[in-house]
Amino acid sequence: MPELPEVETVRRGLEALVLGAVIRRIALHRADLRRPMPLDLESRIVDQPITALRRRAKYLLLDTPAGTILSHLGMTGTWRVAEAERSHDHATLHLADGRRLVYRDPRRFGILDFVAPGAVSPDLADLGPEPLGNDFTPEHLRQVLAARRQAIKAVLLDQTVVSGVGNIYAQEACFRAGIRPQRPANRLRPAERERLVTEVRAVLAEAITAGGSTISDFRQAGGDAGYFQHTFTVYDRAGQSCRTCGGELKGATIAGRSTVWCPTCQR
Ligand SMILES: [Zn+2]
Repeated sequence: MPELPEVETVRRGLEALVLGAVIRRIALHRADLRRPMPLDLESRIVDQPITALRRRAKYLLLDTPAGTILSHLGMTGTWRVAEAERSHDHATLHLADGRRLVYRDPRRFGILDFVAPGAVSPDLADLGPEPLGNDFTPEHLRQVLAARRQAIKAVLLDQTVVSGVGNIYAQEACFRAGIRPQRPANRLRPAERERLVTEVRAVLAEAITAGGSTISDFRQAGGDAGYFQHTFTVYDRAGQSCRTCGGELKGATIAGRSTVWCPTCQR
């Protein structure tokens, strides 16, 4: 499943490929993905230049003067610039230069939607601060965690607290901050909140940098790359040895999601 760093890599790859290109017309090849696609998308965006490619949390936003195409990759969504269409291609943006920008999504958990100029998408309205933005601070965490008794790792997955941090990076950030993922969020000490903000930002920034090295592949592949494997310290490593202390990593389900931590390195 693409997390924020993968989405950012896709954004940068698409920016390099299609920023400034003109969308001649859009063809939708089915009625729905995770939810219905807007049927009027085809008539709303005709002969429009792509003026910006933005990301908010795990949403990609393709701006045109006539409105914005909002895309969420779900579990298996990809964008690519392609000559030929393939199975599971659900939307094709025909570009004026003859290329096609194609959305493919075999499992169809993604979202494709239209946002009118000046409107705020309901998908984005309640999102908390960007983890890499200036609003995600220890003071913000102090305010939002004060009344929360849930496990800190579960709270990090709450998109109103911080947007775009998924199951992988919540675990990695807790490990790097030395905080057990099941600690009640309102019991973190000030120094721990500070450390957690630092590590959430660092782990995402490092993954984006690693993803940046795949952008040349992304361009060569016409956009089908953008999914990459990192070396994680705890994610999916229950029962294996901690890379820091050598002890055995523990695993449990927290708020319905599998979670791994080191009982020695995390307190
Ligand atoms: Zn350890």
